[in-house]
Formats: sequence, C-alpha cells, structure tokens
Amino acid sequence: MADELVGILKKLSEAHGPPGFEEEVAEIIESELKGFVDEIRRDSLGNIIACKGSGEKSLMIAAHMDEIALIVKHIDDKGFIRFAKLGGIWDQLLVSQQVVIHGSKGRIRGVIGSKAVHVMKEDERKQLLTYDKMFIDVGARSADEVREMGIKVGDFITIDKKFLELAGGLVAGKAFDDRAGCTALIHAVKKAEPKCRVYAVFTIQEEVGLRGATVTGYAVKPTVGIAVDTTIAGDHPNMEAHEAPVRVGEGPVIMAADGRRESLSGGLIPNPKVKQWIIETAEKRRIPFQLEVLEGGTTDATAIQLSREGVPCGVIAVPTRYVHTFQEVLSLQDLERLAELLKGLMEEELPI
Ligand SMILES: [Zn+2]
Repeated sequence: MADELVGILKKLSEAHGPPGFEEEVAEIIESELKGFVDEIRRDSLGNIIACKGSGEKSLMIAAHMDEIALIVKHIDDKGFIRFAKLGGIWDQLLVSQQVVIHGSKGRIRGVIGSKAVHVMKEDERKQLLTYDKMFIDVGARSADEVREMGIKVGDFITIDKKFLELAGGLVAGKAFDDRAGCTALIHAVKKAEPKCRVYAVFTIQEEVGLRGATVTGYAVKPTVGIAVDTTIAGDHPNMEAHEAPVRVGEGPVIMAADGRRESLSGGLIPNPKVKQWIIETAEKRRIPFQLEVLEGGTTDATAIQLSREGVPCGVIAVPTRYVHTFQEVLSLQDLERLAELLKGLMEEELPI
C-alpha cells in the first residue's frame, strides 16, 4: 500500500497546478480513477466530481488540486519579470527558487534572482526582502525576447521541486498541501465498498478562497461533507508544543475547530455528530489519530458547510511540517492511515 501511495504522491507533488490552471493534476487524478468509480466528470470550473456507490444519502469528501503559486504581473524593458502571489506565501521562501512559467509556447524555466550578499549594505542584509522587490530571470535580454518566449502578463508561475524520500518513512516535496489529501482520497475511493453514494471531489482554487468547494458543495448537495487537507505539525525546532500540538507520525488529525487566528472566525466548527462519527470510525478500525484546534487556517469544508441550507461537515488532515513552503515533510504511515480512515468512513453508515 505504501508503495502505491508514494507513487501517486510523487507524481502529484511534482505536477504543476496553480490556482486557476489545475489541468495537469486533474489529468493524473482522472487517469488514476478511471475504471474504479461509477462516474467521473469535470464541471465548468474544472473541479473533478467522481461518484461511487448508491443510495439516497451521500458523503462528499473533498481535496484540493491547486497549490500556492505566482502570476506574471509585469515584464520590464530588460526582460526581468515581476509577479503577484496566489495564496499565502512567506516572501523569504521565494528567493533563489527555480520556477516554471506556463506560457503560450510551453513551459519556460527561470530563477528568482537577488542581489549578491557581497554587495549588500549592513542593514540590507538584516532586512526581509518582500516579494514586490523580487524578479524572475528567464535569461532574456529584453521585454520582446520574453514575449517571443510566449510569456505574457497573467501567465502562471509555479515552483519546481523534486520529490524526496527521507529516512524513517518521511518524504519531502512541494504541494503536499493538498496533493497528500488527493492521494489519500484517490486510494480510499478506489478500494472502498461504499455504504452510501460517495462523491470524491477534487477542487480548484482552494488557496485563493475555497472557490471550487463553494460550487461543488452546491452541485453535489451531500448529506455529509468532509474536507481532507494538510495541517501544521509543530514537531520541529523553533516551535512550542502549544503553538502547533500535532506531530508527524502520530496519525491523521481530526479537526475540532479551525479558522482565523485569535477568533476562529471564517472557519469551521465541525458538526458534533460528524466529528464523533470520524472519531468512532478511527477507533473501530484501530487507526491512531490526533485532535486539533487550528488557529490560522481553514479548509474546503468551510465552504461546503455553507452551501444551500447548510451541510454538516468535518475535516481530516495529514500532519505536515513546513506547510506552505516548497519543501513540506510528512510521514507515509500517516498518509496510509488517513487513506484507511477515509475508506472506513465510506464504508460506514452516515451519522445523519
Ligand atoms: Zn494550503
């Protein structure tokens, strides 16, 4: 099982799927699911809705396909490219990354340049460099050359990063948020013998405001909704346990509440029956799990719960170190257990 999961995760992690251009990721998911579900379609925004099983009640489980990315904002006379950010990115992480620009003539490689340390003034070295001071170098000498390469304002830019296997069953790579969720959901829906109508939904544009979940929640009209995502593991230096209590390797995380820092507004307080159902399913199948209150983030479930007259929702996540960097780290065993738990939920009677 771990081999199968790692193969899918690697493929999905190395694929490029900025918000609004999730095509490559969608194609991988469709080819993985073909023949394993009863029905699979893409809606007009690009969300994938796969259905398996039958019955009046339905369970929607959503994972998002998009990743944090950049977009071309300006090309200067010398051929350097300025960009805007798509999703929450800490600016410092961008310096010296290799990027891929998705232009009209195919993918163009570039790097995010910066001044050499030798020529920085003392105070410059201590300052944080913000993204609006950064630029991409594709090797062109003029704006015309950049245009000839097929690059224009509005083209998507993603970070290029190879998937790595570390010691102890840990893996590193980009976009585990939320290709890890996609991987677990693919695996679960393939293997499950559903008790009700199960919708495995792979959403677009989560990182810029839960947009895919908003329309698919409405379209699917599920009895119960669940989002599968990554969450912040705090088991590394410079983190106090109370800041991010969940740990890598201790099982999937069942969300007790999430939302904005200090108020938990704009997030999800899971339906108590749904939360208890997830906990009981984990216990029944002897899957270790962790409970979390996440201050400072939310998931697709927040949008699904507010569709139509409201949908009882819950969230399950993979504990992940360094979320929203381009080098996230998670445990394959956690991912395996998450897939097991999702499959379990698909095979249990709904609590509502
Ligand atoms: Zn995210």
